[in-house]
Amino acid sequence: MIPIISIKNLSVIYDKGTPAEVVALSDVTIDIFPGEFVIVFGPSGCGKSTLLYAISGAERRMTEGELWIKGKNLREMEGEDIIAFHRESVGMVFQAYNLIPTVNVFDNIILPLVFRGVPKDERLKKGKELIERFGIDHLAKMRPALLSGGQQQRVGIARALVNDTEIILADEPTGNLDSQSAFAAMDIFTDLNVAGKKTVILVTHESQYLPYASRIIYMKDGKITGEARQESKKISHIAAVHPEEGKQAHETISLNIERLLNYLELNLVPEEREIFERELKKFAARQISKEKLFEVLDAPFRDGGIGLYKPAAMRLAQELSNILELSAILHKSADKGIKRKSEYVFNWLFADYEGKLSQTQEEIIKKAIHERLKGASSLPDFQANLDKPVSEDGAGLNERTAKNIAQKMGLIF
Ligand code: ADP
Repeated sequence: MIPIISIKNLSVIYDKGTPAEVVALSDVTIDIFPGEFVIVFGPSGCGKSTLLYAISGAERRMTEGELWIKGKNLREMEGEDIIAFHRESVGMVFQAYNLIPTVNVFDNIILPLVFRGVPKDERLKKGKELIERFGIDHLAKMRPALLSGGQQQRVGIARALVNDTEIILADEPTGNLDSQSAFAAMDIFTDLNVAGKKTVILVTHESQYLPYASRIIYMKDGKITGEARQESKKISHIAAVHPEEGKQAHETISLNIERLLNYLELNLVPEEREIFERELKKFAARQISKEKLFEVLDAPFRDGGIGLYKPAAMRLAQELSNILELSAILHKSADKGIKRKSEYVFNWLFADYEGKLSQTQEEIIKKAIHERLKGASSLPDFQANLDKPVSEDGAGLNERTAKNIAQKMGLIF
């Protein structure tokens, strides 16, 4: 396949030759293919936005390298050509929404069409289509400031789509949103990618969104430090309620149902799967008890269940309860209390492990869990760390155990 974006040895230096010189991108090489959902992940200041803006055509301080987009060399383009390229090739979504405060929602969405000189009736048609699609038609006449963050971001995404470009770039689009609206926005990007066939490149420093990507590009200090491909698009968002300090806390957790079923060795036909997902969601929201969940798992299909044997249903209800509880803990303000979270995850991962771990092994495993929860390692890296001998700073587990434990880890993070 031909890459839609091809970057070779690209460097961007700000204030070159002055005492304030910053190497924001250093020798970056990467190909991005049509239909990918790429998340560029790394700490603040590592150069993610610079990379995104270079791709958008807005960042021109490239000092070395090549940047090809849809067969065109961006470094050789200038002036009007760059502006036209930007309009026709990329849609941008921003953390701060960047809506124009003095015009209403509808006009904000169609503004890029005004700049392109698209006739009025066509603009109105396109705008109407987008506000309907995003369920914001009732907000059309309002000024952006009257909208919630989640609503403003919907408007921002609608505007990015108005030129119907193949590439959508998003710069920390969830950065100003509460967790519910953030996941809703991520769902929109997934939909644009899967159903709309857009190539999505999204920048974030928050690890809880990594499961959405089909490929993660890790960055540090202006360089790409690694990448991981993963199965995406099979995430189900579950509104979970769990007791915390005497009150009920609400979290939105993302579970890969495909992986979960695989891990639980459950082969369900689509109708059974639907029941499973529905009941799991009810259980997560505390609308049904663990006992009721067990009953559904155990009941025959004709009675609205999925017909498992009693011991299997019992084991499953308990396991699901553990997984949901742990997921809720992990999704809660993702970067906080990571040490304690690593401890929980360790206990859960090794609950059924029959071997004995030395103190060194335990420390190495906890460190690997910690790295994974921070989003600093991919699932295959995690597995490799468990598998490597202790003499090479690995945990020295046997290959099968390392694989099983990594698979279990993949359920929650
Ligand atoms: P990230 O998006 O990962 O937070 P950025 O790409 O915004 O990182 O920034 C990378 C580095 O470049 C940082 O050190 C930042 O301070 C610096 N930088 C970003 N934009 C400019 C600019 N316009 N002028 C000078 N330095 C900049």
